[in-house]
Amino acid sequence: MQAMVLEAAGRPLKAVELKVPEPGPDQILLKVLACGVCRTDLHIVDGELSDPKLPLVLGHEIVGRVEALGANVEGFAVGDRVGVPWLGYTDGTCRHCREEHENLCDHPRFTGYQIDGGYAGWTVADARYCFTLPEGYSDAEAAPLLCAGLIGYRSLKMAEEALTGETKRLGIYGFGAAAHIVAQVARAKGYEVFAFTSPGDTAAQEFARELGAVWAGGSDEMPPQELDAAIIFAPVGTLVPAALRASRKGGVVVCGGIHMSDIPAFPYDILWEERVLRSVANLTRDDAREFLALAPTIPVETRVVRMKLSEANEALQRLRRGELTGAAVLIP
Ligand SMILES: [Zn+2]
Ligand SMILES: [Zn+2]
Repeated sequence: MQAMVLEAAGRPLKAVELKVPEPGPDQILLKVLACGVCRTDLHIVDGELSDPKLPLVLGHEIVGRVEALGANVEGFAVGDRVGVPWLGYTDGTCRHCREEHENLCDHPRFTGYQIDGGYAGWTVADARYCFTLPEGYSDAEAAPLLCAGLIGYRSLKMAEEALTGETKRLGIYGFGAAAHIVAQVARAKGYEVFAFTSPGDTAAQEFARELGAVWAGGSDEMPPQELDAAIIFAPVGTLVPAALRASRKGGVVVCGGIHMSDIPAFPYDILWEERVLRSVANLTRDDAREFLALAPTIPVETRVVRMKLSEANEALQRLRRGELTGAAVLIP
């Protein structure tokens, strides 16, 4: 099969021929129909996440067709269309797994990071972390639901702790793949969305308004009204004090990314008055089931840019330069 492989951090992916993998007892073999390109892939390529398997097939927003089942697999059949997310394995025995915080597992393995992912013609995945996908989404349109959608949804759930009062103003910093999905869920729940983009990125601001944002501007601007909650998707530490400054007393600021540049020192009084600053890590299977059931009822529409598998390096470059409106999806 064809695969785009990372051999070492800092190098472009290389197109290689690999053997089609064989599923282990708990795994299913999938023909990859589409695989989304996520900012985390860039962090891995750039060496900002320090523990990848190498060589590595990237890709953790996999839409695939079941081709074969391991001996222990139940609940799936050959021919099913399934999705594979970032969290690809947990030990099931550590304290966090026992307490149903499997997203915080002590011995996790992640798809497209420690497990070969979907930048390939075929892949294998632990059946416990495969999900049936809602019909009505094409393969490419379903792909961004699996990371941008799931992590975005978990981030929104954390932000909702401060979205129960008389105003429901949600700031979103960084308006890419995750934001474009979260904004639609937030609108459907009756929240007002304030979108913050790179200063001067009028295309992203226009996109945010199209998706129902009541205000869109640069991340160096203050919103016209104070926020009840904010989610930061851009991996930029200076946005943390910016979001705290824009938030009301008791407001919540959620860092939704896996990597962020250093957060500068800031005065205590922007955190004072019970503002909450927190991160969101990974996803649970419950998040996945909930969100994949919710998305088609809104319905969440995903904006995708289809590219060939062999164009993976170009897709990553376009993501890096902020040239994508929506999410890049590779089609093998
Ligand atoms: Zn665990
Ligand atoms: Zn991701």
